[in-house]
Amino acid sequence: MEKVVNLCKRRGFVYPGSEIYGGLGSSLDYGPLGVELKRNVKEAWWREIVTGRDDVVGLDAAIIMHPRVWEASGHLAGFTDPLVDCKGCKQRFRADQVAGPRCPECGGELTEARQFNLMFKTFVGPVEDTAHVAFLRPETAQSMFVNFRNVLETSRLKLPFGIAQIGRSFRNEITPGNFLFRTREFEQMELEFFVRPGEDEQWYDYWRSARLEWYARLGIKRDRLRLRPHGRDELAHYAKACVDVEYAFPFGWSELEGIANRTDFDLRRHSEYSGKDLTYFDEERRERYFPYVIEPAAGADRSTLAFLVDAYDEDEVEGEARIVLRLHPRLAPYKAAVFPLLRKDGQPERARRIYDALRGHFPVDYDQAGSIGRRYRRQDEVGTPFGITVDHDTMKDGTVTLRDRDATTQIRLAEDRLVEELRARIETPAT
Ligand code: ATP
Repeated sequence: MEKVVNLCKRRGFVYPGSEIYGGLGSSLDYGPLGVELKRNVKEAWWREIVTGRDDVVGLDAAIIMHPRVWEASGHLAGFTDPLVDCKGCKQRFRADQVAGPRCPECGGELTEARQFNLMFKTFVGPVEDTAHVAFLRPETAQSMFVNFRNVLETSRLKLPFGIAQIGRSFRNEITPGNFLFRTREFEQMELEFFVRPGEDEQWYDYWRSARLEWYARLGIKRDRLRLRPHGRDELAHYAKACVDVEYAFPFGWSELEGIANRTDFDLRRHSEYSGKDLTYFDEERRERYFPYVIEPAAGADRSTLAFLVDAYDEDEVEGEARIVLRLHPRLAPYKAAVFPLLRKDGQPERARRIYDALRGHFPVDYDQAGSIGRRYRRQDEVGTPFGITVDHDTMKDGTVTLRDRDATTQIRLAEDRLVEELRARIETPAT
């Protein structure tokens, strides 16, 4: 984990937030390469869940919603963690994460546990009184329930269908940590899939395996992925069943994504609290009912961390140690890097032309500094899957070498075949 964190800082994937002011606990900023990686994770999800299907549409809703939303959803009353304070060192802990009756830091006496609401509170408008209190959303899901009728009326979707969203959520976590794993603001990738009651269990099974497969197809090793069903005592108040996709992080098996059968709880509650009819009329069955909901809820930051950790590797190439990020080409920030072998004989100009041409198709990098070995290492470290080298022969016959990051093997091909070859290799699913 420490190696991944160091690499992230050193190569511009992730920086400590507000660093020049000493940082702000568990706030993190994505740098130039990190923002590309995370965008690719979100893009892969969106393609899989929204644009690649004909039964799911997208949504991008406001973060601050009407406060009644959180009454209806149960978050105002129930989105809490038990909190204990140490009477000695004044630190706070989640009661369920403290092993014994004493402070894990100083051994001091702990207070009784009290419930702490995880929602960030703010005020809308210039008056700071209880009538103007609002919350930053702790999940993106609720806006999809609240817009259920809008989507239904403006599209011609019939059950089963889904509404999906990627967006920021906020939780005032008592114990954030483990780098990108748990922060107080993060991005979620959530799908609410509406189905006929009675067909919910088969859709729950469907999404459970579809979601596990997605991580594996994007390169995560299968033996580091597992599904963990929730026990009865773990289930949220709205859920009939829930299963976590877990990843074997360096700090142990932990949740990447939760897939829940939320029943008709949310639509029913919002109907009740808003007074608006959120039922669905099933023309085939000639009946009106509240659809059931299957929800795969993933985190963009947590998956980015899993992709990084899983891709990190150290090996040896021609007797030299290297760090390599074996990211799936679709996730890699740069798809290729172009190098002139020598900084003379017109090679830099020729390489630059290839770089400019490729940039119209993929994010690519250009590097002419240092030995060719060093340049390959620099790209291996940030996961660039392909290296293109312009050499003496290029100047004669227009061919370049194409090096594969993982196998470190090279082939020669005509420079005008690069786009086609790279496209084929990037789209290839991981094995
Ligand atoms: P945990 O038990 O780890 O607190 P949760 O079960 O409360 O998570 P959900 O409410 O199911 O999480 O949220 C769905 C997904 O959102 C999680 O699987 C995770 O990927 C992401 N997520 C939730 N909380 C955080 C956080 N504090 N930081 C980063 N990602 C988060």
